[in-house]
Amino acid sequence: MYLPEVRQTTELQSYTYSYEYYAAGPSRVTAEDGIHWCVHCDTSSGDETYTHCLNCGAIACSSHIKTERLEGEPICLGCAVTERFALKTKYFYDDQYLEAFREEYAEMPLHEKAIENKLLSGGSVVATLPLVVGLLVIGGII
Ligand SMILES: [Zn+2]
Ligand SMILES: [Zn+2]
Repeated sequence: MYLPEVRQTTELQSYTYSYEYYAAGPSRVTAEDGIHWCVHCDTSSGDETYTHCLNCGAIACSSHIKTERLEGEPICLGCAVTERFALKTKYFYDDQYLEAFREEYAEMPLHEKAIENKLLSGGSVVATLPLVVGLLVIGGII
């Protein structure tokens, strides 16, 4: 399967790109045969978006595909290394990627950490949390 080799600068763009790729696939029939099936939960709905994990090669539905934090590429929950930053779980290819991000994160100013949190959640989860509490947690006060 061909996946465009594109390095995106943000997770949101990367996610949109994956979605558009499959939506604009050359053959809808072929896509439904091979792609519309999740290895993690066995769903096979044609309405769902299925994405190829670049780390282990699995194909997973949108709820089992996350964005690798450093590369901005799709990664499935089956192989991702996870750790929580600023209340938000991040996904990494392996421990080395996690370690690299840990260092990057430690040097971020407070407002960038807050953005980290907001970007990945898409604004839906975090919007329900009072911003002040989030900032206190990020600042290590709680
Ligand atoms: Zn799934
Ligand atoms: Zn995977």
